[in-house]
Order: sequence, then C-alpha cells, then structure tokens
Amino acid sequence: MITRRKLIRNLSAVPLLGGLAGTAKALPFLDVSSTAPAKDYFKELGVRTFVNAAGTYTAMTGSLMLPEVLAAIQYASKDFVMLDELQDKVGKRIASLVHSEYAVVTSGAFSAITLGLTGVLTGPDEKKAAAIPHLEGTGMKTEVIMLKAHDIPYAHALKNTGVKVLQVDTREELEKAINDQTAMLFFVNANNFDGKVQVEEFIQIAKAHNLPAMIDCAADVPPVENLWRFTKMGYDMVCFSGGKGIRGPQSAGLLLGAEKYIKPARLSMAPRGNTVGRGMKINKEEILGMMVALEYYLAKDHAKEWKMWEEQIALVGNAAKSVPGVVTEVKVPAVANHIPTLHVSWDEKKIPVTAADLRDRLRKGNPSIEVADGQPGNKYAISITTWMLVPGQEKIVAARLKEVLSQGA
Ligand SMILES: *Cc1c(COP(=O)(O)O)cnc(C)c1O
Repeated sequence: MITRRKLIRNLSAVPLLGGLAGTAKALPFLDVSSTAPAKDYFKELGVRTFVNAAGTYTAMTGSLMLPEVLAAIQYASKDFVMLDELQDKVGKRIASLVHSEYAVVTSGAFSAITLGLTGVLTGPDEKKAAAIPHLEGTGMKTEVIMLKAHDIPYAHALKNTGVKVLQVDTREELEKAINDQTAMLFFVNANNFDGKVQVEEFIQIAKAHNLPAMIDCAADVPPVENLWRFTKMGYDMVCFSGGKGIRGPQSAGLLLGAEKYIKPARLSMAPRGNTVGRGMKINKEEILGMMVALEYYLAKDHAKEWKMWEEQIALVGNAAKSVPGVVTEVKVPAVANHIPTLHVSWDEKKIPVTAADLRDRLRKGNPSIEVADGQPGNKYAISITTWMLVPGQEKIVAARLKEVLSQGA
C-alpha cells in the first residue's frame, strides 16, 4: 500500500513542472521538445527495418506518416479532451472536407465496416447496440447480401455483428435474395470488375429496394476524387483505410456517408462499453492524426506526385531490364492500389532464380528491401511500386534489383 507520506516522498523525486524546462537536458526521456530519438529501438530489439518497394501492406505496417501528422499526434498527446466531443468535431471537419453528410474516424476500414453495419441494425436504440452480436428476438434484421466475386477475407467484418452474409452471383439472384430480413447490401470496390454487377448498377438495385448500401473502398485512394465519388453515387456508407494511400495512422480508418446510419454507429463505439465496437477503440492522437493526414492528402499536388512515381518506376524498370532475360511492364490497377506498378519477370533459363529466392536476397541485403508478388502462378515474377518509398530510395531499389538479377544470371 502506498501511504500518503510515501506518495509525497516519491513525488518529491520528480521535478516540479515549473522546473521541467531546465532539467529536460538532464532527463532526456522527459524532453518532449526533442525530435531526435534517444534510442534506436528497432535495432535494440533486433527488428528488421526495410525499404518498402511493395506497397501499403498491413503486414509491412502500411504507410509512413508525414512529420506534420506526427506533430499533430504529439500535440494531441499533451491534453485531455472528451472523446465524443473530439469525434463530433473532427467528424464534422472531415465530412466537410470530403463532401459527406457525416463522418467518423474508426480503427481501420475493417472496423468501419462492422460499425457502419451496427448503425444500420440498431438505429438510435442503445439496447439493440448492447445486444449485438445476438440478433435473434431483438427485432433487428439479420442478413447482408454481397456478391460471390467480392468474397474477400475482410468481409468477416460484417459477421462480427451477428448477421448472416448471403453471397449471390447475378443481378437476378441478388434481387431474389432480398427479403424482409435484409439489413444492407455490401460492395467491395476492389473487386468491381470481377463481379457480374458493377458499382453503379449495385447502388441502383439498393435504391430500388429501399435498402442501405455500403462500399468497402479501403485501398481506393488515389485517385483523391474517390473520397467523394461513392457518396455522390448514392452509397450510404463508404469505408476507407487511414493508413494506406492517405498515410494516416495505420490503425485508423474513415466511415463516411449518411448521418442516419453513422450517428447510431457511434452507439457501438468507445467510450460506450457494452458494445461490440468497444475493442475498436481509437485514441485522440489517432483521431487528430487521421484528420491532419487527410488534410495534407487533399492539399497535395497529385499530378506532380503521379509524375514522380512514373519517373521512379521508369528508373527501376530500366535498371531491371538492362539485365538480359528480364522483361518489364508498367500497369495501373483500375480499382484499388491505383498506382503505377512495375511487373518484372525473367527467363528462368537465363536467370535460374525463383521469385522467392530473389525476394530473399533483396531482403537480406543492406538496406533490406521488400517487393511484392508477381503474377499468380508465375514463379519468375515480382512486382514493385515506388508509392511507399522515401524519395531517393528508388535509386537504391534500382541498383539492388539490377545486382540480384545479374547475380542470378
Ligand atoms: C486493407 C483493406 C481492408 C482493411 O482495412 P484496414 O484499414 O486495415 O482495417 C479492407 N478491405 C480492403 C479491400 C482492403 O484492401
């Protein structure tokens, strides 16, 4: 037990606040004004850091935040605020920036999907929010319909609410599956061209049946216009990752769209405890960091950045194809990760190295470099983006790629 006397004694070991400025140098761990890290934590832990020539992969910790975003995070860490008030005001600012009726910062696109659906299911009824994921006997609807071709792992986010997810193939099947238990229709933009119903037709069907529709756009900036394209198209809820193209906190996301659904979704969010969303807490630092990342993302010169990516990709591609037996091609995915992507493949007779081996060599070099998978089924192909590089690193990637391809030859 800590007695009052002990407490006072312990406190007296800590310099008084007024004295902090003067002692900051002597106590580097308290010196919040310093931006130079006192320690090389990753090195100390033996954690590998690398040049990310792959893309915004969660396993690779997403994206790097801008110094301005980190400054906002540090700013937010210095004061207490009421969580709901911050969400209200940040939400309002974000909504106006992206021309949405309402917005809330969530902990990733995945939680935006779960929480948006809770808003649809519960409406403004706290008892219903407390009942999720047990829907039976509550009067809440119990089904969500999506396309088979959209069956991505993240669709699990829907199931967290307790709903049954029905998968259909065609427009006819979709319309037939709609019944009085249908809560919502769900669309995955990344898979738009894989399904038999595409993004505009899908929202028309939802409207014709008077059903709310949600779209997963997690990896769909750039282009920047996508931040308002789908709410304008009529989608009631649009889910984005914060830590991909927007370069906000990796564990943040955006739920944009109709107040009618997103405001009640807040009933399932922290600080409220008796809810399915309580474990999807997002702190004030990330909420503010997300807003500031979005502001910087919107304000940047997108055309100039695109040109930079094209130049970087050309540099890396030219280095790779200078090795005999190597073929390169630049493609831009139509939906999701819409950025210049370099596909590198090689003649296994001239370069008898599998992609797995090549990636391992890049990984073990100094600096360590990560690249992405190539075409599925081709053991002699990789792909590269310069999206997540710190400018200048493209030269390192170009030189190393040429080196490992030549070594393999
Ligand atoms: C990344 C991704 C998600 C998950 O997003 P988080 O922000 O990591 O929660 C969901 N759907 C798609 C299509 C994604 O690419």
